[in-house]
Amino acid sequence: MTTRRKFLIGAGAGIAALGSSRFGNAQDRVRSTTAIAGLQLIDEIVPPGAQPAGAPIVVSTWNHGQAANEAAWSILAQGGRALDAVETGVRVTEGDPKITSVGYGGWPDRDGHVTLDSCLMDEHGNAGAVAFLQDIKHPVSVARAVMEKTPHVMLAGAGAKQFAIEQGFPAEDLLTDGARREWEKWRKEKKYIPWSEQSNPANHDTISQLALDRHGNLSGACTTSGLAFKMHGRVGDSPIIGAALFVDNDIGAACATGVGEEVMKTVGSFLIVELMRQGLSPNDACREGVERIVSKNPQWRKMQVGYLALDRAGNVGSYALQPHFQVAVRDKKTNELRDVADRVAEKR
Ligand code: ASP
Repeated sequence: MTTRRKFLIGAGAGIAALGSSRFGNAQDRVRSTTAIAGLQLIDEIVPPGAQPAGAPIVVSTWNHGQAANEAAWSILAQGGRALDAVETGVRVTEGDPKITSVGYGGWPDRDGHVTLDSCLMDEHGNAGAVAFLQDIKHPVSVARAVMEKTPHVMLAGAGAKQFAIEQGFPAEDLLTDGARREWEKWRKEKKYIPWSEQSNPANHDTISQLALDRHGNLSGACTTSGLAFKMHGRVGDSPIIGAALFVDNDIGAACATGVGEEVMKTVGSFLIVELMRQGLSPNDACREGVERIVSKNPQWRKMQVGYLALDRAGNVGSYALQPHFQVAVRDKKTNELRDVADRVAEKR
């Protein structure tokens, strides 16, 4: 089995900023994007409601984002809705047992239970989420059902599972033999201490995906089994609207991967969208989001957080605390995996 860990260690060196743009007030809709690392030059004026030249586009965290992007792209390319694209996209990751950080095949908590967190948000600002959900393979679709079929934003634990079953989602054991073996190994070696290994960037592989559709609408989704061998009951940033994901159709969208506690404490994705509202490019806003963590937590060198942002013109930005973060980008011209600029390398 190809593990994330092996891939990342092999992948490290190239570092490229993913784009920068300058514009005064976001309401001006005047954007100028500089070409970096192969991005094309985009100069455009995007009046509200018009189709941005950068659309459609879908972006995802990590290398498994490429398969998720492909699924999302099949919807976006036909003029489909960004919300349908991101749900369809991250379901691919949730269903793949080889991906040990999301859905089926995800590594369990320290008591051996696979517990899942997910959320999604649409162009109208509607949101749905599930936290600490067990035995349901596609938490993102349960989150969508919470959004569309209940008056609530989030359901958790047994209540979320009960709701899922009522909605027709099958209950199934999500702990694969491979994940069980990893857990048993970890238990022996790490003596049940939850945080010892978790600063390893290879353990942070949540999929977060953002899409901008042909109609100029943004949506995002995030789904994870959370930190491997976490405490039973631990919920990370991934189901928290504003932390792992935020979408404002007038401005842009942002999402996160990495140590959820740091993302939650700084309300990372909301912060990044608000910074874009103030005129920062997606790239600069992600960098500021990372700097916020650095300024608040002296332990920042021991952990990984990566941010990814997409504005409503289709400009992409990304920045991470540590090396080895990658994002997958798919649009009309591009289908690639990019290494992301990081704080550690830049300030070395
Ligand atoms: N953000 C996730 C969490 O804290 C972990 C990850 O991205 O791997 O649960």
